[in-house]
Amino acid sequence: MVSDSAFEVPTSVIIIGSGVFGLATAHAICKNPLFKDTKVTIVDRLPFPTPDGSSIDSSRIIRPDYAAAPYARLASVAQKRWRTDFAPEHYHETGLCVTASSPEQGYVSGCLANVLSIGTDKVEVLNSAADIQRVCGLEGKDDGGSGSTGYVNWSSGWANAEGAMRWFRKEVEKLNRVNFVVGTVKKLTINHETNTVSGVTLNDSSVLKAGLTILAAGAWSASLIDLRGICKSTGQVLCYMPISADEEAFLSKRPTILNLSNALFMIPPSQGLLKIARHGHGYINPTTIPHPESPDPTETITVSLPYTHVNEPNLSIPIEGHRACRDFLSSIHPSLAVPSRPFTASKICWYTDTRDGDFLISYHPKYKGLFVATGGSGHGFKFLPVIGDSILECVMGRTPEEFKERWRWPRERIGERLWRGDGSRGGPIGMVLEEEMSKGKNKL
Ligand SMILES: Cc1cc2nc3c(=O)[nH]c(=O)nc-3n(C[C@H](O)[C@H](O)[C@H](O)COP(=O)(O)OP(=O)(O)OC[C@H]3O[C@@H](n4cnc5c(N)ncnc54)[C@H](O)[C@@H]3O)c2cc1C
Repeated sequence: MVSDSAFEVPTSVIIIGSGVFGLATAHAICKNPLFKDTKVTIVDRLPFPTPDGSSIDSSRIIRPDYAAAPYARLASVAQKRWRTDFAPEHYHETGLCVTASSPEQGYVSGCLANVLSIGTDKVEVLNSAADIQRVCGLEGKDDGGSGSTGYVNWSSGWANAEGAMRWFRKEVEKLNRVNFVVGTVKKLTINHETNTVSGVTLNDSSVLKAGLTILAAGAWSASLIDLRGICKSTGQVLCYMPISADEEAFLSKRPTILNLSNALFMIPPSQGLLKIARHGHGYINPTTIPHPESPDPTETITVSLPYTHVNEPNLSIPIEGHRACRDFLSSIHPSLAVPSRPFTASKICWYTDTRDGDFLISYHPKYKGLFVATGGSGHGFKFLPVIGDSILECVMGRTPEEFKERWRWPRERIGERLWRGDGSRGGPIGMVLEEEMSKGKNKL
C-alpha cells in the first residue's frame, strides 16, 4: 500500500480498459502536472466504443439518489459537471421517480433522506400508486408496475451513455498524451519472486511494460486477477422497443421510473427507442479459466465472467428476463405492450458487483505496481466527470476520507452467498445464465 509520502510518480502507466473507470483515470493522469512526463497507454480488447462494454449504451441514470451519503455527495458534484461543462448535450434532467411496493424497502427512504440533506427543493414525496402514475405519466393503473410509495427527484436525470463516452474520448484524445492500443490482455506480467507486476502480455504475445499497471477491465477484471469473494460479474437484461414520434414526445419529458421492489426501470426514450431494464441480482456465468495469478498453467479457477453478443452475435436473453421486462411495460403502459409491439432488440450487460455495492479502487495488497479500479456495481456511470480524479487521489495514497473503508481492498474474501449488497436490487436471486437460457430464450 502507498502512503502520501511514499508515492513515486511512475514513468509509465498501462490502463487495462477504456470504459468509465479506465478512460477517466487516463484523463486525470494527463491533466495532472505531476504526471507530465509519464507515458500513458490504454489497452482495450476491442476498438472504441467497446460494443459490449458496460459504459456503452443508449442511456444511464444520473442521480444523487443514494442510500449511502458519500455516494450521494460525490454524485451531486458529478451532476454539477453534467449540467455545465461535461457533455451537456448528452445530459437530460427529466427527474427520477424511485418507488417500491411498500415502505419496508429501506433504500427508498435512505435515498430520500440523502437527497433532502444535499439541499434540493425539487423533491416530491409520493404516497400512493395514483401519485406515482400521475407524476410519471403512466397509462397503467397496476401498482405492481408503478409501486405505491416513493418520491420523485426532479433534479436527477439521465445521459446518453455512448454519446457521453464518445465526447469524453475526444477530450482525452485532444490532450495528445495517451497511446491507445487495441488488443486483449492475456496475462499480467507477474514476477513471482518479487511479487511485482511490470505490465501485460497480449493475446498476440506482445509485451507492454509499465511502472504502474491499472486494471480497469470492468466485469472482465476477474479474468486477470483472482477476485473470488471480492467482485462478481452479473448479467442484467435490457430490452428496446421502437416508438413513434408522438409517444416519444410525451414520454421523453417524464421522469425515469425505477421500482426497487422488482428492480425494473424505464428511462425516457430518445431517438425513437424505449428502454426497459432490470437493476437486479442478475445472472452469473461460472467459467473455468487458468488461474490468472498462478505460474502453474494447469491450475484453474471458476469465476463468473461476461458472456455477450460479442461472444455470440445472435445471443438471446433468457425468456425469464424478457417476460419480466414485458410484464413491467404491460403494467405501466399497456398500449405499448400489445403483441403487435414486440421488443426489437435486447442484450445482457454486465455489472461488476461487490459485496456491498462499493467500488474497488485500491493497490493490490500482494503485487507492487498493480492498482485496481473497478467494482462499478451497476452505478458507476454517473461519476464519469469526477471518478478519474478520485482514482488518481487513491493512486497517490490520498483516498478521500469518506471512501477509505468503502474502496479499500477487503480484509477478507467472503462467499458470494453472504454478500448483503447495497439494498437497491430486487427480482430473482441466484440465477445462472446457462440454466436460464436452457429454460427458453427469446430470439429477437
Ligand atoms: C445494464 C447496465 C445499466 C447500468 N445503469 C447505470 C445507471 O443507470 N447509472 C449509473 O451510474 N451506472 C449504471 N451502470 C453502471 C456503469 O455503467 C458501470 O459501473 C460502468 O460503466 C463501468 O465501467 P468500467 O470502466 O468498469 O467497465 P467497462 O465499461 O465494461 O470497461 C471495461 C473495459 O475493459 C475492456 N477489457 C476487458 N477485458 C480486457 C482484456 N483482457 N484486455 C483488454 N481490455 C479488456 C473491455 O473491453 C471494456 O471496454 C449500469 C451498468 C449496466 C451494465
